[in-house]
Amino acid sequence: MPLLLLDLDDTLLDRAGPFRAWGERFLADVGAPASDIDWLVSNDADGLTDRWDLADALRHRYGLLVPSADLVEELHDGVLAHTRLDPLVACALRIAHGAGWVPVVVSNGAVRQHEAKIRGTGLDRYVADWVISEEAGFGKPNPRIFELAARRAGTTLRGAWMVGDGPEGDIGGAAAVGLPSVWLHRGRVWADPRCAPTVTVDGVLAAVAAVLAGAG
Ligand SMILES: [Mg+2]
Repeated sequence: MPLLLLDLDDTLLDRAGPFRAWGERFLADVGAPASDIDWLVSNDADGLTDRWDLADALRHRYGLLVPSADLVEELHDGVLAHTRLDPLVACALRIAHGAGWVPVVVSNGAVRQHEAKIRGTGLDRYVADWVISEEAGFGKPNPRIFELAARRAGTTLRGAWMVGDGPEGDIGGAAAVGLPSVWLHRGRVWADPRCAPTVTVDGVLAAVAAVLAGAG
């Protein structure tokens, strides 16, 4: 049974929307102008900015006296509280599973936060397993995390596909281990000349359709 490797943030679970929703409420709470949401979203960098660095940036900008540790918690919990599993994504995973694929999440990030999201949204009922970079000791695009995902599923990367929105981690990572990939463009244009996704689509349902067509 081939592996369907899937990124988590902004692939299986929308992260940009929940972060923005949390951010707008946070800015209102600290009395900041609503227009600062662009600054906040930019500094978050789709979650790639270290949470402690973002917490420090918030403390400085708004002169907050709350400890950074509390802000880091707020960043984690606030986004989690707004995160929902899109029924279309659940449906796509069921279709993939029904067609003989083994869906496994491969995500860069902290175990506690990502497991809370996977279980809290019910996504755990639709995937066979998940590999998080913090516990793996290496993250995408390092080929070892993809190999670990295959080993944990008791199989190999033969016939596997990777689906994700991250040009470097997801698509570059897939290219590095010779896997075909589906890129969720999120309104962006592919810009990395070193590699390219096999297919570009606008959502997980289309991604699964492309994988099923491509593998058939
Ligand atoms: Mg992502």
